[in-house]
Parts: sequence; structure tokens; C-alpha cells
Amino acid sequence: MGDQLAIHGGEPVAKEPFPSTNLGPSAIGDEEIQAVTDVLRSRNVFRFTNREQSRCAELERLFSRMTGCPYALAVGGGTGALIAGLVGIGVGEGDEVIVPGYTYIASASAALIVGALPVIAEIDETLTLDPNDIERNITSRTRAIMPVHMRGIPCDMDPILRIARAHGLKVIEDTSQACGGSYKGRRLGALGDAGTFSFQQSKVMTAGEGGMLVTHDRHVFERAAIRHDSAMCYWDPENTTVQPFPGENFRMNELEGALGCVQFARVETILARTRALQQRIREGIDGLPGITLHQPPDPEGDCGITLTMFFATSDKAREFAEIIRAEGIPAGSMYDQGIPDRHVYCYWEYVMQKLSGDRHGWPWTSPRHDQNRTYSADMCPRTLDILGRAVVLPISQTFEDRHAEMMVEGVRKVAMALAT
Ligand SMILES: *Cc1c(COP(=O)(O)O)cnc(C)c1O
Repeated sequence: MGDQLAIHGGEPVAKEPFPSTNLGPSAIGDEEIQAVTDVLRSRNVFRFTNREQSRCAELERLFSRMTGCPYALAVGGGTGALIAGLVGIGVGEGDEVIVPGYTYIASASAALIVGALPVIAEIDETLTLDPNDIERNITSRTRAIMPVHMRGIPCDMDPILRIARAHGLKVIEDTSQACGGSYKGRRLGALGDAGTFSFQQSKVMTAGEGGMLVTHDRHVFERAAIRHDSAMCYWDPENTTVQPFPGENFRMNELEGALGCVQFARVETILARTRALQQRIREGIDGLPGITLHQPPDPEGDCGITLTMFFATSDKAREFAEIIRAEGIPAGSMYDQGIPDRHVYCYWEYVMQKLSGDRHGWPWTSPRHDQNRTYSADMCPRTLDILGRAVVLPISQTFEDRHAEMMVEGVRKVAMALAT
């Protein structure tokens, strides 16, 4: 009865739309409204006016405690956190930063903004930076590696850190999509020289906008703090040991700080639920013909906010995604020629074409850079192959148990139909 595919006129598995897959933003409730309203009533929205009661400072303490990093800096966004972090670890003009071919374009953009060039390396089937493709990309100009914990998946940090140490490179972890995740018992963001978070709407927790930088190194923190605020050395001269230099304004405001503090308190609950749902779905669809399930480098540290299925070819993945969406199950392809997804390097047009806002083409044209460095859409074929064969199931704490059951039923139905 229920075997006929919806795409062929059968009953869809899900007869009503799934709930929102937004994580933090879906959880916004009275506590957030109260916290933000309290800031407004205090008539103080700037973090440095009343430092003792600053909600931004409180959010920094929460991230310090979570990650075990003594230094945390709240900033205006995830990209700003990366820029401040890169400046913090000493990346600048003439340097190269190794970034994975699968990450949001802002990871590469941050390197360019500080004058460095992004060097694009392959991902592997974890969907994160392939440790085996790092050394091929190291040159005399390489200064840092930027592993990105995509879609809540922890990168395989041990080999990455080993390679970094062997070559004297810094590591900055882009943890924008994996707040609360961990690797072998250590919180993501705390494993390298600097770690960054984003509180934009589509992340695990939100502050409207906003970001966080964490580090174990006071020097990195101070440099990042100066970069994030052109007046930093005047706010806190007795606590600044590094020489001042021009900064900009990536400051977080108290409205964001207050919202962030309440949302932070929800992260563990959100992830406990997404992890339980992911486990149920994984068990329910394990071993189906034609589907290989994603294996995170550390299953316990995975945020559980996605579950990816791999197919033998990109055609099979595309067909599967199309059919299962007709069943009412949210599922996305990761790389589809024609859909310009800015998470896939070949759609980073200002990197591919070396574009700049500067009329002299800086930093691409800087004589400190290798002028022979080229970029092309086919430079990381394995990344495109892996993403092309992937179909991702988004998982949110807004799902009820029956939504997990429907996902399982939908995947089984489509897999069995395609297998015969
Ligand atoms: C969201 C995101 C960023 C940028 O964060 P913003 O807060 O939007 O500036 C950077 N890197 C990754 C991997 C992201 O997902």
C-alpha cells in the first residue's frame, strides 16, 4: 500500500511539513525576550560602559569555562572572529592559510582580509579537511592551517595538529557550525592556537549576529582584542602588554551579549536532543542497499545536527534527494552543478577569479605573494566527488520522535525502491 513512491503518485511518508531546522533561533523563548528587554531597560547597550555587569563579558566567561581556554573575546560576527584570530596568531600579507574546499566562503575571505592567501585543500569522507592533503599544500609562505568543523562534525584534529607542529604552523579552528562539539573529550575551538564561533541565525546558538574567539595564549588574545576595537588599548591600558596597532570595530553589543548568554544555556539541551535523534535515524537506516553512512572522526563529539548519506555516483545522489523530498522528507544535496552554494570552493568566485575591492588588486597582487598561484573549479576533484555523492539529512531539536521515524521510513522506502 504505502510502497508506491510519492513522486509516482503514491502517498508521501510525511503528510505535513517538518518543523524548522533552525537550532538556536527555534529555541528563543521568554528568557531571551526578558534578557534583551532588561538590557534595553538599563539603557546601556555598550559593553564597556558598565564592565562589571556586561553581558558580553559574561558570555566570554561562559565560553572560557566551556572550552577551558583562559581567554575569550566576544565579537560582532564569525567572520570578525576569524579575522581577529588570524591577526592574533600573526597571519598577514605574504602568508598562506590552508583551508578546506568545503567551508563557508567567509573562511577564505577572512584570510584575504588580513592580506593572506587561502590555499584550498581537499576534504575526505568525514566532510572536513583531509589531513593527508595538508603537506602537499605547504610552501615556504604557509603560516596557518584552518580546519573547519563543518555541520557539527569534528575534524580529525590529532593528525592536523601533528602536521602543524612538525612544520611550525599555527592552527585556527573555525567552529562556526559546531558550537558545543568536541574531539576526544576536548571542546572544539580549544585544540589549536585559536578557535572561532559564529552566532548568526543558522548556527547552534544565535545572538542575532556575533561571534567568539577563544585561545590559550594571552598574546593571541591581546592582538585579537586590539584588532577588534580601535580603542582597545585605551579601554584597558594596564592589561595590554602588546604594542598597539590600528583596529576596527568588531565589538559585540549588550543586546547580543544578553541574547547569547541565554542561548548558550540551551546548547547542551539542544545537542543532547539532536544527538539522540541522529542515533535513532542512524540505527534505522544502517545497512540499506546503495547507502554508506557518514562516519565522524569522533562520534561522541559530533553535534548530531546532520546525518550524511553517500551514494555510488552523483547521479544516484541527486535522484535519491529528489525522490525523498517528494516524500516530504527534508534532504539536501551538497554539491549540485548549477546551484551556486558558497560552501563549495568552486563557487567562491572572488577566490577563483582573484578579485579584490582594492583598485590595485591587493592582496592578490602583493609582491610578497606567489604570483604563480592559480585557482580553478577543478583543483580539488575529490572534494567535488565526495560532495556530489552526498545527501544530507538536517536534524533539529524541534523534531519530535515521529519526525525521526518518518526520516527512517522515507530513507528505507526510497532505498528499497531504488534497489529493485
Ligand atoms: C557562518 C560561518 C562563518 C561566518 O560567520 P558570520 O557570523 O556569518 O560572519 C564562517 N565560517 C563558517 C564555517 C560558517 O559556517
